[in-house]
Amino acid sequence: MEEEWVCIVPKVELHAHLNGSIRNSTLLELARELAQKGTIVFSDFEHVIRKNDRTLREVFKLFDLIHVVTTDHKTITRITKEVVEDFAAENVVYLELRTTPKRNDSIGMSKRSYMEAVIDGLRSTSSSNLDINFSSDDFEKFSKFKTEKKIIVRLLLSIDRRESTASAMETVNLALEMKGMGVIGIDLSGNPTVGEWETFLPALKFAREQGLSVTLHCGEVPTSVEIQSMLDFLPGRIGHACCFEDEEWRKLKSYKIPVDLCSYIYFNDMFVYLAVFISIFFCIQVEICLTSNIRPETISSIDVHHFANLYKENHPIVLCTDDSGVFSTSLSNEYALVSSTFGLGKLELFELARKAVDFIFAGNDVKKELMKVYESAARTL
Ligand code: 5GP
Repeated sequence: MEEEWVCIVPKVELHAHLNGSIRNSTLLELARELAQKGTIVFSDFEHVIRKNDRTLREVFKLFDLIHVVTTDHKTITRITKEVVEDFAAENVVYLELRTTPKRNDSIGMSKRSYMEAVIDGLRSTSSSNLDINFSSDDFEKFSKFKTEKKIIVRLLLSIDRRESTASAMETVNLALEMKGMGVIGIDLSGNPTVGEWETFLPALKFAREQGLSVTLHCGEVPTSVEIQSMLDFLPGRIGHACCFEDEEWRKLKSYKIPVDLCSYIYFNDMFVYLAVFISIFFCIQVEICLTSNIRPETISSIDVHHFANLYKENHPIVLCTDDSGVFSTSLSNEYALVSSTFGLGKLELFELARKAVDFIFAGNDVKKELMKVYESAARTL
């Protein structure tokens, strides 16, 4: 598969962590600055950043290191801008960027001010050649499409598994306050060997009752009871699903979520918008992060990855990067990997990318815009 073609295809990214998507060059530059101030030892840092094969435990240690150099308002704004630019550069047309709101009293950072710094990053991106389209009126001025690269960005707030119930609830309340600023959902992530599912359940239930979409990191380690409880919660999407046993696969494939349908049909070379005012049932969708599952050996080898089975059974899946910086990948690379490993051709890859539109958490107005992008790409690619 020509790399150039995979890059040109419009793509939808639904599972990208802000601090995991930071450019290596930026990370090293920031580390050098802190080393000059004597806060860290650069060589220790550089060794970890440049390392390629990491265990899952080492990946989470790396995140703690990354947070040491990134967690101030100015840097958060900068990395947000760069991450969005990088996705837009490879024709990601819709991005759900997730990040864990952080509090750091020593520098006057609250969870809210952290998120404001993220939003400043999105704003500065729009002023430097990219179009960030928010639904809120407040952001209308940022959705004037001035350049050829257009990327629609929405935000998911992550709850880290190290947090308490109160802290998780604080994040959900923040997401609700920031709903008009592009925040549309909640993610549960962080080291899967830490924390109890029951700790986060009240906040996640509340989030859903209040109309926020929910995605969960699920099954990164073999914790059968937790995986099943997570599936029983019926999240809109889950990420990874690497350590599922037969019973978990059965649940995943049989569970259906009621959703009010507004969808599209392909008719006469055109996508026709079809509004149906009844509820239909969707399966729990799976965010597949191939490179991120292979590098820390969460999955032993790519040919045994569950992508193949879910794809064959037509279960809803979406290819994602997870942490493009930490795992040195890109969304185009993930599509190319699927092509070379599982033999998907251009038509299948295009369909895989297009179907991801059905799984976005943003509303039907955004879906409609995106389908137009795919309709036009289908004619030229
Ligand atoms: P941030 O939320 O700080 O922008 O992005 C980094 C954080 O995302 C990590 O500290 C971790 O909590 C979460 N994260 C990133 N990648 C993964 C992953 O593969 N699995 C899990 N469970 N959490 C992750």
